[in-house]
Amino acid sequence: MTVIDAHAHVWGEGFLPAAFFRSVAEGWAAKAADRHSDLILPRLLAGVVDASGDDFVANMDRAGVDASFVMMLDVGAPAFGEEPDVPVEAQIAFYGDLQKRHKGRLYSHVAVDFRRPGHLDLIRRAIRGQGLVGIGEITPDGFSAADERIRPTMKLAAELGVPVQIHTRTGVWTDMAGTDFSERNPVHPIHVARLAREVPDLKIVLCHAGFPHWWQVAAEAIADLPNCVLDISNWNERLDADAPELVARLATWRSLVGVERILFASDQASGARFTGVRSHLDRWVAFIRDLPSAGARWGYRFTGEDARAILGANARRFYNLA
Ligand SMILES: [Zn+2]
Repeated sequence: MTVIDAHAHVWGEGFLPAAFFRSVAEGWAAKAADRHSDLILPRLLAGVVDASGDDFVANMDRAGVDASFVMMLDVGAPAFGEEPDVPVEAQIAFYGDLQKRHKGRLYSHVAVDFRRPGHLDLIRRAIRGQGLVGIGEITPDGFSAADERIRPTMKLAAELGVPVQIHTRTGVWTDMAGTDFSERNPVHPIHVARLAREVPDLKIVLCHAGFPHWWQVAAEAIADLPNCVLDISNWNERLDADAPELVARLATWRSLVGVERILFASDQASGARFTGVRSHLDRWVAFIRDLPSAGARWGYRFTGEDARAILGANARRFYNLA
C-alpha cells in the first residue's frame, strides 16, 4: 500500500523571521505568569530546522510514509512586516534541492506572496525550471482565495497544470484556534469554492478540510466542484479524543465528495521539536490503514480499497505522479 502525506512542512535555517517566533513565544508566555517569551525563543528558532531533510525522511520511514508533499510558506514582509534571513529566491532553491536529494520521497511546492513584485516569474521558474510540483501553502490573511489580487497566481497554476494548496482552518499562522467562524474569515472554505467556480481548470487542495468547525461546509461547498479535494491534515489532533467521530466524519466526507477526493495528510513539521518520539505520524497512518476494522466497530463500512485510495492512490492521481 502506497502511503502519501499530502501536506507537510520542512524548513531550512533562517526561513522564518523573528517576528513569527516572537508571536509564538508570546502566546506560550501568556499561558503562565512565570513564563517569559525570551526563555523559549532560542529553542523555537532552532526547533523546526532540518537543512537536509534527512531527519524528516527518517521520521517518514518510522511511520511507513513513502512520499510527502512539502509546503513552502512565504513568511516574510508582506505577512509579518519583516523579512527572514534567507530570501524567497534562496528558499525556492532549497526546496528544489530537497526534492532532488530525496527523489521520489519529497515533492516540493512553491509559495510566493502576491504582494511581492515578480511573484509570478518566481513561481513559474520554480515549477518549470526546478520541477516543483505545486503552489502552496497559501495562507489567506488580509485577502481570501477568491480575491482578485491572487487570481493571476491561481490562473498561472491552472496554466501550468499544477495544484494549489490553500489553508482552510479557522486560525492562521501562530493563532491556530481562530474565533470567527463566519464567511468574513478569509480562510472560510466558501472562498475556495468561489475561486474554483471562477477558475474551473484549477486543481485545489482544501488543506485541513475546514478544521475544526467547517468540516461539513468544506465538503458541501466543493461537492459539485470535481477539481477540489480535501486534505485531512490537522484532524490527527483529534485522534486520541475522538476516534469514532473521525470515522463518522470520513464517512460523511465520502458521501458528500466521494472517497476519491479525500487525501491523507498530517501537517507534520520538520525539526527536533516535531519529529522522532514527538511525532504521531505512525499512529495517524495506522488509523487510516485500519479504517475497515475501526469502521466496522462503530457501525460504518470502509473497504480496503477506500483506505488505499485515501492513503495514497488519490494523491498520486491528483498530482499525476508516475
Ligand atoms: Zn495550513
